[in-house]
Amino acid sequence: MGAGAAGTMAAIFAAEGASTRSPRPEVLLLERTQDGGRKILISGGGRCNILPSAPDLARFVTDSSPKSLRNILKSWPVEEQIRFFNERLGLDLTLEVESGKLFPQSNKARDVRDGLLSLATALGVCTRFGVTVEDLEPPLVPGGDWQVVLAGGERIAASAVVLATGGLSVPNTGSDGTGLRIAAALGHEVHATYPALTPLTAKEPRHAALSGISLPVTLNARADGKRYSTAGGFLFTHKGYSGPSVLDLSHLAVRSRLAGGARQEITVQWTALDASAWEERLRAGGTAHVGTLVRRELPERLADMVLESAGVNGGTTASQLKRGDRQQLVAALTAMPLPWTGDEGYKKAEVTGGGVALNEIDPRTLESRRAPGLFLCGEMLDAFGPIGGYNFLWAWATGRAAGLGAVGTA
Ligand SMILES: Cc1cc2nc3c(=O)[nH]c(=O)nc-3n(C[C@H](O)[C@H](O)[C@H](O)COP(=O)(O)OP(=O)(O)OC[C@H]3O[C@@H](n4cnc5c(N)ncnc54)[C@H](O)[C@@H]3O)c2cc1C
Repeated sequence: MGAGAAGTMAAIFAAEGASTRSPRPEVLLLERTQDGGRKILISGGGRCNILPSAPDLARFVTDSSPKSLRNILKSWPVEEQIRFFNERLGLDLTLEVESGKLFPQSNKARDVRDGLLSLATALGVCTRFGVTVEDLEPPLVPGGDWQVVLAGGERIAASAVVLATGGLSVPNTGSDGTGLRIAAALGHEVHATYPALTPLTAKEPRHAALSGISLPVTLNARADGKRYSTAGGFLFTHKGYSGPSVLDLSHLAVRSRLAGGARQEITVQWTALDASAWEERLRAGGTAHVGTLVRRELPERLADMVLESAGVNGGTTASQLKRGDRQQLVAALTAMPLPWTGDEGYKKAEVTGGGVALNEIDPRTLESRRAPGLFLCGEMLDAFGPIGGYNFLWAWATGRAAGLGAVGTA
């Protein structure tokens, strides 16, 4: 159920597993939209960052056991995934060296979506687009059939079902949380969901005036006794802040907003220079104007904003800069609190945080421990990763395992 990244991969491997079984089970892929895989189409700015070249599994976020998460991912290591796309879909992957991201050589997300659906069809998967699954009824007797209930009342009997309907992010791609509702109704624990990898909003006019400026920064935060740091692109938008560094920390902000307590502090280091490097540069600046030294490292309008927030006149020479002013300026350059006020929610979120608890899923087959014959995969599970191909890595690995599990060949 669901012809997104996880569901289509599940169908491919279910069909492959089915071909070794006698009698051969039929594989049916049900999809609400007219063509499926709409998130793949908009992924990576239309280029589809299909995988990370060297994933750091510690960067995944889950409220379930990180060990369960790692066990699930072990089933299909990244090198094997790369080989799959290369050999089975004929897609050569190109490495973007500075980010470690892999993209199809054609830079066309459509090649990934169409390639997966074509492979599924070639393997005998029967696909029905434009059908919405409304409900799922478990077998009345152990080993009996599931009943898939479609909008309009049609019922389909199935010996096993793979739930791959995604989460709540970007609902106009077809995912509205149906699968989360169904899993909860079947007795699954669903960890509270929240938008993740979503832009933050702000009401600071001095920042709104910088809309369009982008630069690499480092963001820092401290939550639950842990230090979080992301380095990468940062973009001033007319609503607030976006770019990989912001998206990767946004869940901390979102969760603090949802918890209703103190707002999560996120600070920005605007340049590659840390506090001691700036301290040294300003001390050694002599007759150079402080404004000149700052503008050398930052776009002019941003440099002016930093100087203004530190209350420092850029026309002051470095040697005239008072100690207190120097400290204020160094703080504004290396640890400016980001005055975020909200976030752009699921409408813009690249993924859903939270979801079906991993400890209720067999890590090898992704079969539900609550409802045998039900297999769950993709974004609806309680895990997401940072920008960089991690979320497809999760969708491909869980989809494959669930597909093989569903035909009993995992
Ligand atoms: C703008 C954007 C860019 C992204 N870029 C990247 C990237 O470059 N790299 C990366 O790794 N990740 C990226 N992601 C994240 C990635 O797209 C998701 O993690 C991944 O698509 C999740 O796959 P899924 O199959 O679990 O869910 P989905 O892709 O959401 O698929 C779920 C499918 O189920 C269907 N469905 C839902 N409910 C029903 C129902 N009731 N009946 C029938 N069908 C139903 C939906 O129509 C949909 O086709 C991006 C996400 C967004 C929004």
